[in-house]
Amino acid sequence: MRIAEIHSSELTSDCLRKVYHRLRGETSGEATTALYRGLVAGRACELMHNMGFDEDISNLTVMAASDTQKQLASENRILSESVEHNLQDILAEVTLVIGLYRDRFRHLFEQCELMGTEIPARYNMLGTEFASHLDLAVRDTKGVFGFGVNRILVFDWKWRQEMPSHQYLARYMQFALYYLMVKEGSLMCGPKGFEWMDYKESPILVWLHLPALKPYTRKTVSRDDKGEQKEFVKGDFKPMRAVLRRVEYDKNRDDSIKQELALRANMIEKDVFPLNPSPVSCRICDAEAFCSRFDTAKLDE
Ligand code: SF4
Repeated sequence: MRIAEIHSSELTSDCLRKVYHRLRGETSGEATTALYRGLVAGRACELMHNMGFDEDISNLTVMAASDTQKQLASENRILSESVEHNLQDILAEVTLVIGLYRDRFRHLFEQCELMGTEIPARYNMLGTEFASHLDLAVRDTKGVFGFGVNRILVFDWKWRQEMPSHQYLARYMQFALYYLMVKEGSLMCGPKGFEWMDYKESPILVWLHLPALKPYTRKTVSRDDKGEQKEFVKGDFKPMRAVLRRVEYDKNRDDSIKQELALRANMIEKDVFPLNPSPVSCRICDAEAFCSRFDTAKLDE
């Protein structure tokens, strides 16, 4: 399948058959709760960085919900019944979490240089174009996040059930591509407004796990940010290590990343999209109705 450019989402799917159906436009078109909540929360964070941390939080959520609904409509997607039914609860949860995001990170981000949000990014590897958008990039001029002075930090706002392991993130192709986009590709941002910039610097990638901003709901023993065992009680904030997970790349491994990208580009071009069903993914997959199955059951059984 020849496509003009490969998007980061095509590199990280757990099932390549899902990618095949998406590329052909064969998806159910329903926005699930997980998708909708993640989009609204991401957009609300983006608005906060662009409009300022003093902006009214509920107002940000309302604007983010409106923008998200317009975006979904432009993609011919409709809200699932579950989203329609629980809309107010979803928006209240997002408002709570972005309020906690502001309380927890405002003083840090205000000491960094904002490079941009939703930054268009591209990387060309031997004629194959990779494209994506970075949720948030800052230059940490004072090293307030503790990852080094003057480093470029690329944050990805995530709303998933579980924080991924270090072992997973060390191999996560979305972040690996973002790393190469900053180091060897171009970003549309910069001091002169929006223009394509080649930074040629190694960024640090940060998974920002939004649901972990919610405080503990019961007594829990866990390691704090100093690595010491501590008893947290109901209402305590989780340590930063439960919210942020960073990936610092080894420059000697750049060729391995490029080989993995080339392998995926080659698979897409040669129409290699094997099924990789999973007990959970297939049930919530938006390509399920279009995907091969081997039984006689009707799709709605
Ligand atoms: S239904 Fe399952 S096997 Fe088919 S595309 Fe979706 S995740 Fe893959």
